[in-house]
Amino acid sequence: MIDPRNHFIQDLLIAEKLDALLIFGLPNIRYLCGFTGTDGVLLIQPNESVFLTDSRYFAQAQKQVNADHIYCYKNKLKTVADNLSLGGCKRVGFDAEVLSVALFEELNTLADDSLNWCPLSRQLQPLRGVKTAAELISLQSAANLNHQAFDLVLPLIQPGITERVIALELEFALKRLGGESNAFDFIVASGVRGALPHGVASNKKLLPGELITIDFGTRIDGYHSDETVTLAIGGVDRKLRQIYDIVLEAHDSALAAIQSGMAICDLDAVARDYIESKGYGKYFGHSLGHGVGLEVHEYPAVSARSGQRLVEGMVITIEPGIYIPDIGGVRIEDTVVVTGDGFEALTSIPKQFKQLSI
Ligand code: ZN
Ligand code: ZN
Repeated sequence: MIDPRNHFIQDLLIAEKLDALLIFGLPNIRYLCGFTGTDGVLLIQPNESVFLTDSRYFAQAQKQVNADHIYCYKNKLKTVADNLSLGGCKRVGFDAEVLSVALFEELNTLADDSLNWCPLSRQLQPLRGVKTAAELISLQSAANLNHQAFDLVLPLIQPGITERVIALELEFALKRLGGESNAFDFIVASGVRGALPHGVASNKKLLPGELITIDFGTRIDGYHSDETVTLAIGGVDRKLRQIYDIVLEAHDSALAAIQSGMAICDLDAVARDYIESKGYGKYFGHSLGHGVGLEVHEYPAVSARSGQRLVEGMVITIEPGIYIPDIGGVRIEDTVVVTGDGFEALTSIPKQFKQLSI
């Protein structure tokens, strides 16, 4: 249920002793009041919420937005400052990870001198961490499209086709199936390019004996899918097969370890320690995963540095990888929801070793 004054926000207003909270970040705005446009500010006070937008979005906001008042501005920051003044706000929080220093300084100049600002970053991060049933339905729908699109494109993955064409075919299939837009620039990295963890699709043609890593996703109702498969184009040499098996074991054992309440850094360690024990630790440089929702990368980070714990209803990826320069790489990624007794996978493309017949 979209509600600008949900429990999390109410608790935050009390904990930080705020008269008002300004939300500039679009995903948080969408989450709290339903607005899907690209310009607006949400002002939340203990007993009132105000959504401000420009003339392009006023009619849309009147239909979409759940807020007590909806106003149209010509000068965004001036209107924000005037509304804070009108509301008699003394201590005001804002999403410090979104508002630039330049805009903050401008807002500060326009606002009453007596106003006391409270930049919020870590305090706001968990807002969208635990998903509602409605959000899970959208995330599952997006994940289902990944599987359907992959099945449509799989027959095309053959020697001679370029990485770029595979990315385009996936994009076309996802959009034809109902996906709103690409979740990110798809990674299609074959052969030695597989050693680039973020190797965006190039004009390189696939060759027999290579591994190909495909990381892709779409959006439904604003919610993202994110999944990575690595396939063998015909027979591959023993070394590549060996790193595939290590990454798959790291992936499977991390999934099996998921438990609500566990420290997230311990989950990262399950995969990392296993890859290290096989001698490939220095080739797994990124974190194990990330939250997925209205942003494809969002809270919680699933990393060795995390100080958070898993909570039932969080949606996270598990995506270990090994990337060996001049040889190639493997990444295997699923998006899952943390449940009361483990996890449920949202993504569903099989991850066991797959050797394409060529
Ligand atoms: Zn991914
Ligand atoms: Zn990911």
